[in-house]
Amino acid sequence: MTNEQLKQWLQLFTDKVVENKQYLSDLDTPIGDGDHGANMARGTTEMMKAIEEKNPETVTDTLKLSAMTLISKVGGASGPLYGSAFMGMTKASMKTEDLVEILEAGLADIQKRGKAEIGEKTMVDTWAPTIEGLKNNELTIEKVQSFSEATKDIKASKGRASYLGERSLGHIDPGSMSSAYLFETMIKAGVK
Ligand code: ADP
Ligand code: MG
Ligand code: MG
Repeated sequence: MTNEQLKQWLQLFTDKVVENKQYLSDLDTPIGDGDHGANMARGTTEMMKAIEEKNPETVTDTLKLSAMTLISKVGGASGPLYGSAFMGMTKASMKTEDLVEILEAGLADIQKRGKAEIGEKTMVDTWAPTIEGLKNNELTIEKVQSFSEATKDIKASKGRASYLGERSLGHIDPGSMSSAYLFETMIKAGVK
């Protein structure tokens, strides 16, 4: 990925999150505290503002600035988790240009911080199959969406939704949806 592609990706991601701010918060209402859309819209908007102001010139610098802004501006559980994801990607980008390896490092840091495995109804349930799909050269926007949809059938065992136990069933996990936006816009930006 080039720095230009990365910036295009982050802009499309921000637009998608801002457009769907209400929907993300609506997903967070029955199984959380209804703030995921507001958290993500605030954080991504601040991230783009920082990128425009500081104009980072390399992939690593852009990822690092994004990580720091997400950590400090998103808030909630998702802020440190997205921040960790981008920090993991930052570190990997210093060693490799391979997108799969970069995303794997992002997922590893999400899991290091949040301790969630696949099947606990979190953003991990979008990240893990997306990376798998990318590895096998069969990732599509429809598939990314289906990974988030599939969290409906999972009982939450991490995050706020875990307080609901069985009652978390039937609802899409909000963080899995914002992560689906992340990967949908990655595909749209032609990031490879
Ligand atoms: P909060 O729950 O603090 O209000 P948000 O609503 O912004 O934070 O984010 C909630 C999302 O964070 C969940 O939908 C889930 O995807 C994600 N999440 C919560 N805990 C974890 C965890 N331990 N590991 C991975 N993702 C998590
Ligand atoms: Mg919330
Ligand atoms: Mg909250």
